[in-house]
Amino acid sequence: MKALFAAAAALVLSAGSTLAQGYPTKPITLVVPFAAGGPTDVIARIVAEPMSRTLGQQIVIENVAGAGGTTGTTRVATAAPDGYTIMMGHMGTHGAAPALYPKLKYDPTKDFEAIGMAAGTPILLVAKKDLPPKDLKEFMTFAKAQGDKMNLAHAGVGSVSHTTALLLNNQLGIKPSQVPYRGTGPAMNDLVAGQVDFMTDQIVNVVSQVKAGSIKAYAIATPARSPALPDVPTTKEAGMPDYQVSAWNALFAPKGTPTDVTAKLSDALFKALADENTRKRLLELGGVLPEKDQQTQAWLKGFVAEEVARWTPVIKAAGATAE
Ligand code: ASP
Repeated sequence: MKALFAAAAALVLSAGSTLAQGYPTKPITLVVPFAAGGPTDVIARIVAEPMSRTLGQQIVIENVAGAGGTTGTTRVATAAPDGYTIMMGHMGTHGAAPALYPKLKYDPTKDFEAIGMAAGTPILLVAKKDLPPKDLKEFMTFAKAQGDKMNLAHAGVGSVSHTTALLLNNQLGIKPSQVPYRGTGPAMNDLVAGQVDFMTDQIVNVVSQVKAGSIKAYAIATPARSPALPDVPTTKEAGMPDYQVSAWNALFAPKGTPTDVTAKLSDALFKALADENTRKRLLELGGVLPEKDQQTQAWLKGFVAEEVARWTPVIKAAGATAE
């Protein structure tokens, strides 16, 4: 009997180690905490394809939208830490959300294992194509005169588009009405249709629409113009030099996911970012690829802590919370 138990224990042990060794042995779920078609979803799909080739398993995208991305992020924070549920987070879910949701059910700095940075995403101020202002200076005057008659689209409280609009409104002293969506993919559809007036969003969502002339871009909130949209001026050039803000998307696993598993995922991500076709797709959409020294799990972990610390006072100063 004793021997049987010993044998069973040995079996369990060896099953445990081969689990990590043979990982992955089944499809991996990649949670996108926003609707399909938006920046987080697009970046997730671009990197998932080459990652799944490296890992030899399918990566299935699951869109779990709601509450500015915090619904899907909470789901992943409490998922089994076995490497089969991971997520594409961003500056909102893993930076701004704690300051906006005092009762947030996860801590971005404690409840996740960092896998790696996927892409930096500059923020642009974009508007429906028929909005009267021709440039940023005109927009500033127009927005102040309109008061709450203007409306802005965002992806829910705590999202990138919400947080960056909060900053814009605060700097301009304006209070437009807010129209929340389950992601900026659907928000963009309404901007193109002229249902909403403006939005501040991640570059990957706006490049093709700006190029097609279906929306207009007033400025990019980074120190330099983007090679993906060379005609769009910076906020500094266009008259709002203090509006400087950039976002990012990165992969995370639930806390406690074995280190050899997250190392495999991280390796697959950075191999993906070295793949020529993947780089081209991200760069064409204006994504900023992480530098070599930013391509580690440790770098992302430190960066998330910096982002939470950076956003908390900014949001407090803007006087906003979700609850
Ligand atoms: N860009 C979005 C945000 O504002 C979300 C999305 O990726 O759809 O947070």
